[in-house]
Amino acid sequence: MSGSAKALAESVRYDDRLLMNEGVGVIVSERLSAENVVHGFTTRLGGVSPAPFDSLDLGTTRPEPWENIIANYRILAGAYGLDFDKLTLVRHEHGDNILKLTAEDAGRGISREPFGFCDGFVTNDPGVTLMTCHADCSAFFLYDPVTRSIGLAHAGWKGMKKRIGQKLAQRLEKEYGADPSDMVAVVGPCICEKCFEVERALAESFALEFDCPDIFTEGFGEKADKAYVSLRAAALIQLMDAGVPLGNISVMRHCTLEESDLFFSYRREGKRTGSMAAFLRLNK
Ligand SMILES: [Zn+2]
Repeated sequence: MSGSAKALAESVRYDDRLLMNEGVGVIVSERLSAENVVHGFTTRLGGVSPAPFDSLDLGTTRPEPWENIIANYRILAGAYGLDFDKLTLVRHEHGDNILKLTAEDAGRGISREPFGFCDGFVTNDPGVTLMTCHADCSAFFLYDPVTRSIGLAHAGWKGMKKRIGQKLAQRLEKEYGADPSDMVAVVGPCICEKCFEVERALAESFALEFDCPDIFTEGFGEKADKAYVSLRAAALIQLMDAGVPLGNISVMRHCTLEESDLFFSYRREGKRTGSMAAFLRLNK
């Protein structure tokens, strides 16, 4: 469908809230909380990692001791009532591979062997907690209250362009018979449309892919060959293309690059920074 990024930004719901449990800060959505779905997008608040990974670094591919990362996962699990041994992490490659999980997969990527490359998970099993890692990239949280199935995906610009959010909704439809018009969707924090600077040609490819001319704004002066893309608009359009009503979608309105007190940012810091994580689990 074609649309206006500006109109979408003005009409979508923003319902995020920063929760602090035992000093560990997590962004939650009011809508998903009302549905009683265990979920969150972590901040850098509450972990044990020293600078520049301070402090709740949950990244598994950075130059930080594994014992600190595992300590941080344990702290998160303790603060939010998650079972550490059931935390299950994607091994992202900025692709669109989505795996279907059951309780038998619980723990993979953290306390057990990792998966092959994948950027998303679906399940209808409360015995597994889905997790993805992020450091400017957004997250798609999906919940279908009718079939009680969930999906979680990591989406940087490559995943957005490959429509991993749309594919996640389609996978819930295929595996569990979920109807996208029933689904509740949340788009996680990411680098915002003022900060996500790219080459002009890439921005134009986004406008074409999502049939949305104002998905980017042009740079000027020294930045005349650059453009600024709204990953959030790309997320909303693909969810709506999957059949999720705009009224069922919420956005966590934060910019990971600007809000350095709350978030790690790859664009801001390079490789010497930590990662946030998203988590999603059905209530038992
Ligand atoms: Zn920003």
